[in-house]
Amino acid sequence: MSDWSKFQAETLAAQALGLIDEASGAIIPAIHPSTTYLRDPDNGYRRGRIYARADNPTFEQAGALLTALEGGADSLLFASGMAAATAVFLALSPGDHVVVPKVMYWAFRAWLHETATHWGLRVEEVDTTDLDAVRSALRPGETRLVWLESPANPLWSVSDIAAIADLAHRAGARLAVDSTVATPVFTRPLDLGADIVMHSATKYLNGHSDVVAGTLTTAKQDEFWARIRQVLVRHGGILGPFEAWLLQRGMRTLFVRVKAAAASAQRLAERLAAHGKVSAVLYPGLPGFPGHDLAARQMRGGFGAMLSIRVKAGEAAAIGTAANVDLWKRATSLGGVESLIEHRASIEGPSSPVPSDLLRLSVGLEAADDLFDDLDQALRRAGERA
Ligand SMILES: *Cc1c(COP(=O)(O)O)cnc(C)c1O
Repeated sequence: MSDWSKFQAETLAAQALGLIDEASGAIIPAIHPSTTYLRDPDNGYRRGRIYARADNPTFEQAGALLTALEGGADSLLFASGMAAATAVFLALSPGDHVVVPKVMYWAFRAWLHETATHWGLRVEEVDTTDLDAVRSALRPGETRLVWLESPANPLWSVSDIAAIADLAHRAGARLAVDSTVATPVFTRPLDLGADIVMHSATKYLNGHSDVVAGTLTTAKQDEFWARIRQVLVRHGGILGPFEAWLLQRGMRTLFVRVKAAAASAQRLAERLAAHGKVSAVLYPGLPGFPGHDLAARQMRGGFGAMLSIRVKAGEAAAIGTAANVDLWKRATSLGGVESLIEHRASIEGPSSPVPSDLLRLSVGLEAADDLFDDLDQALRRAGERA
C-alpha cells in the first residue's frame, strides 16, 4: 500500500485513497449492507464492528477520503446536511450561547430559531463579514460555538475563517464552518483554524443530484467530537450504505467537476455583469464584490460555482426569467452536474434577508456560453412582458 500522505488531493480523490476490495481484488470497493457483525467465540468484537447504526465499512471508505481531503482527524456521515449541522448544536448543552450568521442556508437558520432556541440554546445572529460585530457578540466563558457559512447562501458573502477562528478560540468557543459551497477544492477550513467543517454532501461532494447526505470532519478527536458521534449513533440519522458508496464514487471526480463549474461561473458572472437587464451580480470572483479580496486570499484557485443575479425590472421579471429558461432547470438545491435556477425569496418567505428580485444560479457542467444564451433570452423575454 502506498503512503497516501505524500500525494496531492486530486490523487487521493481519484483513487479514493487506493481503496480495493481485499477479498476479491476488485478495484472498486464493495457495498456492505449488513446490519450486524459476527461476534468472536469469546464474546468480543476483535474486528471492531458491532452493529451498523454505528459501524459500517462503507461509511469508513467515504469518511476516510473526506478526512484526507479536509486535512482532518476523523469524519462522520449523516443522513443529510441538516442532520450533520444540527448534530453539532445538539452536542452542546441547554443554556449555551452560540453565534451564527445573519445570512445562511435558510432551513438551518429556521431550525436555529425554532428548535434550537426552544431546546434552550441562546442563539445570536451577527453579520459574520464584520469582525467587530463578531468580536462584540462573543461572550467569553458563555459562547461555546461560532457557526460560519462561506460563501453564504444565497448572497455569497465571504467570512474570514482564520480571523474568526482566532476570535472564537480567545473567547473559549469552537468554530464550525459550513463549507458546502467552497468545497475542499477551494477552501480547507481546518487549515485556517476551524475546529469542525460541515458539508451538505447532497451538493458538490456527491455532485450528481442523486444522494441526500451530510458530513462533519473534525480537526481533533476530543470530547466534543465524541459527543457529536453519540448524537449521530443515538439519534440514528446515519447514511445508508448505498448512499455512502455513491458518495465515495462522487468524490472521485470532485476536483474536475468543481473546477470546471467554477470556471464557467466566473465567465457567466463577467458576462452577466455587463447585461442590460441585470442590476447586480453577486459572485466572490468579481473584483467589485465586497468579499472579493478576502475570497482571493481564503479560497485557493477559484471562487466556487454559485452566483446570484438581481433582475433590474424587479420581482415579477425575476420570476418571469426563471419561467422562460429552457436549459437551466427550475429547481432548488445546488452542486450537481446540471445547472439550476431559483427565485429564493418565494421559497424562503418573509423572514428571509434575500431581495425579491434575486435569482440563485447553480452552475453545472454545460458549456458556459449555452448557459449564458439561455439566460439571456429568458431575461429579454421577461423584460418585454414586465
Ligand atoms: C443544502 C444545504 C444544507 C442542508 O443540506 P441537506 O443535505 O439538504 O440537508 C446546508 N447548508 C448548505 C450551504 C446547503 O446548501
